[in-house]
Amino acid sequence: MQQSDYPVVIAGAGPAGATVSMFLENEGIKHLLLEKDRFPRDKICGDAVSSKALEIIARLKPDAIKAFGEDPEMALLTNGIQFSAPNGKSVDIAFPKPKGNLPIGFISRRMDFDSFLFNQLQNSKWAEIWQNADLKDAVYDNNGGVSMTINHNGTDKSITTKLIIGADGARSVVKRKLQGFEQDDNHYCGGIRAYYNNVSGLHPQNYLELHFMKELLPGYFWIFPLPNGLQMLVWVCSQGILSKKKPT
Ligand SMILES: Cc1cc2nc3c(=O)[nH]c(=O)nc-3n(C[C@H](O)[C@H](O)[C@H](O)COP(=O)(O)OP(=O)(O)OC[C@H]3O[C@@H](n4cnc5c(N)ncnc54)[C@H](O)[C@@H]3O)c2cc1C
Repeated sequence: MQQSDYPVVIAGAGPAGATVSMFLENEGIKHLLLEKDRFPRDKICGDAVSSKALEIIARLKPDAIKAFGEDPEMALLTNGIQFSAPNGKSVDIAFPKPKGNLPIGFISRRMDFDSFLFNQLQNSKWAEIWQNADLKDAVYDNNGGVSMTINHNGTDKSITTKLIIGADGARSVVKRKLQGFEQDDNHYCGGIRAYYNNVSGLHPQNYLELHFMKELLPGYFWIFPLPNGLQMLVWVCSQGILSKKKPT
């Protein structure tokens, strides 16, 4: 098996991994970025990007993120959020104006947004990028570092590093193998996402809508508008609903 050493390894090239890679690039730090999928790839999400996230990305790529946020095919600006209570009453909360010249926040399909971030890495001098690279195992070694097994394009490879950054999502291998985290079924939610066309009666200023209905509590659902007249509905149910038990 091939054995290589990298000063830093990032597991996962979603928003967290891609952003860390951009920061390391700015600092001139060599690293390996692993992604088990291949972009463009989807990720179940509400697809809303807050101005807080945009502020961080703008530190690295101000022109690119502004252009992406203003592209009507890619992003739909949103101005606030509406909460609807089980009694049918609702409250609208406008988002505060962000700093600088940034969009207030937008909704963009993760298929588009994550690819946009990933594409920012393409001319990187400091990142080696492996797609189709599934981190299978990670263990602390005797030299104060971490040894990993990665299946890259069907071939197992062995890598060592002094620093591994776990950006491999909710089912993180890094979190499980190196920190011993296991899923806690008492605090676990399920979510279903679907995209729809031709939904009417939405908020006129593209507010995000969160609906809490008596029959669904403690679950809830939301409806977010998207570019190109698309709408998304996400239903989130708590473990209590999944198992018909009250969550502890
Ligand atoms: C139903 C739902 C709705 C949400 N709505 C919103 C929202 O509207 N706005 C918002 O800001 N957040 C939302 N979130 C949260 C948001 O999705 C996450 O916070 C965000 O995706 C985390 O980004 P990340 O880069 O850490 O992980 P991820 O986006 O999960 O990316 C992890 C990456 O690591 C890769 N990977 C995984 N395992 C491995 C492995 N073994 N080896 C190599 N690569 C691996 C994956 O393929 C993926 O590309 C929502 C989450 C859910 C579940």
